[in-house]
Amino acid sequence: MKRLLTELAGWLQSEGQLMDGVLVSGVSFDTRTLKEGDLFIPFRGEQVNGHQFVQQAIDKGAAASLWMKDEPDAPANIPLIFIDDPELAMQQLARSYREKLACKFIGITGSNGKTSTKDLVASVLSPYFNVRKTEGNFNNELGLPWTILSLEEDTEVAVLEMGMSGFGEISFLSDLAKPHYTVITNIGEAHMQDLGSREGIAIAKFEIIDGLQEDGKLFYDGDEVLLQALVSAHPKLDAVSFGHSENAGLSLGVMESGDEGSRFTVKGKIDGSFTIPVFGSHQVKNSLAAILIAHELGLSNEQIDSALRQVKLTDMRMQPVVAENGALFINDAYNAAPTSMEAALTFLQETKLRSEKWAVLGDMLELGENERHYHESIARQLGTISLQGILLFGPRMKWLYDELQKNGNETNVIWSENDYDPLIATLLSSIDENSIVLLKGSRGMELEKVMDGVLKA
Ligand code: ATP
Ligand code: MG
Repeated sequence: MKRLLTELAGWLQSEGQLMDGVLVSGVSFDTRTLKEGDLFIPFRGEQVNGHQFVQQAIDKGAAASLWMKDEPDAPANIPLIFIDDPELAMQQLARSYREKLACKFIGITGSNGKTSTKDLVASVLSPYFNVRKTEGNFNNELGLPWTILSLEEDTEVAVLEMGMSGFGEISFLSDLAKPHYTVITNIGEAHMQDLGSREGIAIAKFEIIDGLQEDGKLFYDGDEVLLQALVSAHPKLDAVSFGHSENAGLSLGVMESGDEGSRFTVKGKIDGSFTIPVFGSHQVKNSLAAILIAHELGLSNEQIDSALRQVKLTDMRMQPVVAENGALFINDAYNAAPTSMEAALTFLQETKLRSEKWAVLGDMLELGENERHYHESIARQLGTISLQGILLFGPRMKWLYDELQKNGNETNVIWSENDYDPLIATLLSSIDENSIVLLKGSRGMELEKVMDGVLKA
């Protein structure tokens, strides 16, 4: 952005020490990452009071700062806007700035695949439009306004990730961004604790239509009956599904994977074939959302295909890493929940990239009271895959270990509660150019350390 401080004060309907000619180019609530020209936003937390850092922010190049009205000792000689609440103020600024922008807004939610789909959509559009996307995982009531406020006036497409942990949150984010296109990637089990059931989760994600532009569109997981039901209940909604299902608006046809990634065909709203340097049919399915949006924005199949070939996902999402001896790691250790675990194991089951398959699996966290059941359930799918070895890590994986023992599983299974070394040692003595190793666990388990241990040995 490039806006005068006086204009921002007007958006906030607030007084201040506005000082003539002060230009604001973004916002920041952390002096460590603050950029020159930012408006500093001091939050008052339990431990730290951000107002203590206002002077430091100005010294680092901040154009101005917000200042809470009930905070004493406002410095006299720096540009300030006086406000009641920094979070509300930032949201109000984003709302007002959003209204001034002519760019297309795309909102992406879902239980799994938000960041991946955001990357896919942005990658496909980037060669043809001036695109900005959510950085990292900045997808909540602070991250989203921050992202909107960091858009340039000439941004043509903003690709925004929207996350939640309870009802009302996606509705709020969607209302703030007023998207032209929205995507629901899938419905999983995360946040079951707060939302009660998968139906509850679907309803919470579906809130993404609350802020949708009148002529806007929803693209959604066509393999999820709960979403189908919600779409049917909204006959006026312009909604297109995508997925494996033959009946989906855009349906995934034949898919083959090679070292360069996945080649696949689609049929329905668009007929064509595409290649993408990404593994796993769940990630290919995410790319259908990107294809649909690119098509809406007027790109041809050839343009979409050439952009898809250049895609790079954020690290640790089905990321291929080849070891010196030729063994192929698929690093999906960013996170894990039952749905994404199943998707990753389906990839391992189907892949022909290497013949000797290894699964390195870590605990799935935050699953609530059924966590034991979810861990034990993995045994069924593992039983259908021809595996060289199953390496389990973390206290909850003991449930899966016991389940596998009970079933008389003959594969080499190792469980380690909190030490990576036995897993690293097993892989070091076993894997070679014929091996593929899937790493999958919740973020807290840091399973990438197993791969790092092997690569550094
Ligand atoms: P978060 O809620 O942490 O922001 P996210 O929704 O942004 O997660 P990603 O970071 O894209 O999701 O991916 C998280 C995990 O889910 C990765 O392991 C990824 O491979 C897997 N995943 C991605 N897309 C899907 C999908 N459509 N279905 C199931 N699993 C998926
Ligand atoms: Mg994410």
